[in-house]
Amino acid sequence: MSVPSPPIHLVLGSRNVKKCREMAELITPPWERRPWMDLLRIESIAAYPDVPEVVEDADTFAGNARKKASETALALGAWVLADDSGLAVDALDGAPGVYSARYAGEPCDDDANCRKLLEALAAVSDDRRGAAFRCVLAVSDPEGRIRLEAEGAVRGRIIRELRGPGGFGYDPMFLIPEYHRTFGELSSLVKHQLSHRSRAFAHLRPGLEKLVLEVAEG
Ligand code: IMP
Repeated sequence: MSVPSPPIHLVLGSRNVKKCREMAELITPPWERRPWMDLLRIESIAAYPDVPEVVEDADTFAGNARKKASETALALGAWVLADDSGLAVDALDGAPGVYSARYAGEPCDDDANCRKLLEALAAVSDDRRGAAFRCVLAVSDPEGRIRLEAEGAVRGRIIRELRGPGGFGYDPMFLIPEYHRTFGELSSLVKHQLSHRSRAFAHLRPGLEKLVLEVAEG
């Protein structure tokens, strides 16, 4: 007997492998498994190397998330979920913000970004090192129309060195004070209970469930 293939093909529109893995884990989390999730067939944009990269030139996370979702959906003729995210540091008036991925220039390099941020904050006192990770998710239909959006944020502190091998990007310097650990030191399971991305997914899921059921019913 052949198993019917899930009817909705959803492409995760990020070429950042580690971010994409987090998105895949958070869209259908094992701790919140629901039947509608079986209707999704999730793939990464990495499976489509010929799709041109989207130029992220909007000045907000929401603008870039919408642009990535919509342009990639049109290029593929598929449903696309895009994530635009980054770190906003209080003492730097919200920088690096939408430029987080390329803070130290192109090509994007997590280590170089972290080192540049350590230097930028070297003279900033311990009580002024607050920061927030922000994430905006956008879902586009195959015609390039944005059908869902959600956002999430988490606050923490930027420490003076890199700690922990986990996560990606600025995780080793982002301290969650209540845990006395950076995201680089916390397991991915704990990061998934606290992070900006997990909060954005928690806001997205009810709308996504409705959308998936509507599309599945035709
Ligand atoms: P984007 O792919 O343009 O959205 O860039 C996101 C950038 O923000 C990443 O390259 C990281 O530098 C940073 N970033 C976003 N989310 C996280 C996270 O969960 N941990 C660490 N850094 C993150």
